[in-house]
Amino acid sequence: MTPATTPETAPAHAPASAPVLDVRDLDVSFGDVPAVRGVSFEVRPGEVLGVVGESGSGKSVTASAIMGLLPSSARVSGSVRLHGRELVGARDKELNALRGRAMSMVFQDPLSALTPVYRVGDQIAEAVRVHQRVTKEQALVKAVSLLDLVGIPHPAERALAFPHEFSGGMRQRAMIAMAIANDPDLVICDEPTTALDVTIQAQVLEVLKKARDETGAAIIMITHDLGVVAGLADRVLVMYAGRPVEVGTVDDVYYRPRMPYTVGLLRSIPRVDRGAQRRLEPIEGSPPSPAALPPGCPFAPRCPLHVAACDEAEPPLFETGPGHLAACIRWEDEAASEAEAAEAEEAEKETQAPAEAEEAREAERAVEAAVPRGEPVLRVEGLVKDYPLLRGAVFKRRVGTVHAVAGISFAIREGETLGLVGESGCGKTTTLLEILELARPQRGRVVVFGHDTARLGPAERMAIRRDMQVVFQDPLASLDPRMTVHDVVAEPLRTHGLGDSGRRVAELLTLVGLAPEHAERYPQDFSGGQRQRIGIARALALEPRLLVLDEPVSALDVSIQAGVINLLASLKVRLGLSYLFVAHDLAVVRHIADRVAVMYLGRIAEIGAVDAVYDAPAHPYTQALLSAIPLPDPARERSRRRILLEGDLPSPAHPPSGCRFRTRCPKFRTVLTEDERVLCVEAEPDVLPVGEPAGDQGAACHYAEQLDVVQPRRNSR
Ligand code: SF4
Ligand code: SF4
Repeated sequence: MTPATTPETAPAHAPASAPVLDVRDLDVSFGDVPAVRGVSFEVRPGEVLGVVGESGSGKSVTASAIMGLLPSSARVSGSVRLHGRELVGARDKELNALRGRAMSMVFQDPLSALTPVYRVGDQIAEAVRVHQRVTKEQALVKAVSLLDLVGIPHPAERALAFPHEFSGGMRQRAMIAMAIANDPDLVICDEPTTALDVTIQAQVLEVLKKARDETGAAIIMITHDLGVVAGLADRVLVMYAGRPVEVGTVDDVYYRPRMPYTVGLLRSIPRVDRGAQRRLEPIEGSPPSPAALPPGCPFAPRCPLHVAACDEAEPPLFETGPGHLAACIRWEDEAASEAEAAEAEEAEKETQAPAEAEEAREAERAVEAAVPRGEPVLRVEGLVKDYPLLRGAVFKRRVGTVHAVAGISFAIREGETLGLVGESGCGKTTTLLEILELARPQRGRVVVFGHDTARLGPAERMAIRRDMQVVFQDPLASLDPRMTVHDVVAEPLRTHGLGDSGRRVAELLTLVGLAPEHAERYPQDFSGGQRQRIGIARALALEPRLLVLDEPVSALDVSIQAGVINLLASLKVRLGLSYLFVAHDLAVVRHIADRVAVMYLGRIAEIGAVDAVYDAPAHPYTQALLSAIPLPDPARERSRRRILLEGDLPSPAHPPSGCRFRTRCPKFRTVLTEDERVLCVEAEPDVLPVGEPAGDQGAACHYAEQLDVVQPRRNSR
């Protein structure tokens, strides 16, 4: 085994040109707490280096250290050379001359980087003028051409807008335009798409690829999402506990990972091309605190391959193949177990001929279809929710109406999980709040356990509240931080006059995978995943029949998220629960839900069994949504056909006539004839059955047509 300390990061296809950026032994600490430890890498012209890791892994601090943007309290040592010029210890004046010219940065929140009181075009022009000798007019012309390059429609007009007049996706494009304004050699993107909806993320990633091609700049793409870099990066650097633990070409890292942490990350990701047939494999425990790193390998407490020798010293990066490094003393065992797994998979495929496999799936489907479905526990019929649009600071006057939910219908049967998905502003949260309200809706009906919410008396409402519980994204955020875990879990029992026995609390904590002795601690002592488990224990205290889950795993790191998804899946079976699972992440929903309803601008675009909808979506919006979700599979990402949507979600105060999706519908724009389009413009489509034979799947499109956009590949790791 050869320890290697200077990871080369040249793309496999790139010429061996001199690196743009050369980082060596970079250390950053805040007081006594190390945030970045011994980071070394190079990036060459035109190369995209993906830096991936979970919260607290040190990836963003590394980016800020390169840009010289750390607060003065940070201690930085090591070397960061841009074209051979040392940046560590450089004076501010020197760094200012480089920032925006030779290197630039795209942040997660573009609002923090754009000045709200200046027009977008002026800000980009200013960025040009700081570094180039051009007139104001020339700079403005350049700003407009940059906005055009990043795909802003009507760029000359939009250059006059203020940042708040841009949507999130447009602001991020404007940031990219500003970042490439002076043809930099290096662009650092720090989670540039994390705050964006998936269809907008797909647009922004395309813009980044275009920017790289146009400028030839090297890109460092920092992200927690292994899907995002799979199709974009040439090389990947995985960080854990402040240091790189695996580096290699994107194919090596994704297909032949050698560090157990990388293996665990890849196995824990919910994938939109694989459903519940593949159980997620969470990584046990949580990342160590940088202030209290374990001796030896920092991944040891969570590592399935851990042996005593791992605790002796922190492993260096070993060369496991050409340009492929991993910080694990057992990387050869990992390689051997991978080979065994591949062999076992091959053998399984050989013993199960394709026809047999198809027969088996048919049989599974038949059994599934034969299972008697229970009565609906929740029925929503033609639900409508409008909000008045008000103007004026003191004297508010109504200037319009926001049609947040515009007539949706669905049902959840006993023991079933319905995933309600859609992007920001689609109306899913309003729908959830309307259901939780247990009151008469503005229009339509909500029927819970057979009771129409419009006709509930106080006693019935109280009983339903007991049977229908809710779990929020951070269920403990609204609670008094002085409450112990016991108090948090026991509170619903007390409220309903059931006492707060320690035994019941201990039972509930055990049920969600926590220890009974955790009851005396405080929620803030727990990690995100454990806090969510406490929230679930609290929701289960009254033995409900229906759980309403509002983005329950979206704030969790992927290795932790998998454990909570598995827990919810097993609780559903053990306790016979039904779930309404509201989420924006379609991959998570595929793993947990039996059926899915896709919302767009207050309406249901498509609904049906998850496998049917994901394998053969019939609505153009569902197709675009599914095709936009990146897969952590580089080869498939590179060859995948992506349906890009143009523009942003229209305002729910002014939905388009006819089909609400028509302003962004690729089919409307590129496939339909003039005559066919008339129907889309004039008539709002209802959800109608699709598929042969017509089953449970329905789509609200006049020209619905099933299409496989994810290309599922079964029985693979
Ligand atoms: S060095 Fe040991 S504990 Fe660390 S990743 Fe390798 S096997 Fe696991
Ligand atoms: S009805 Fe027309 S505009 Fe709407 S989704 Fe279908 S094809 Fe597109």
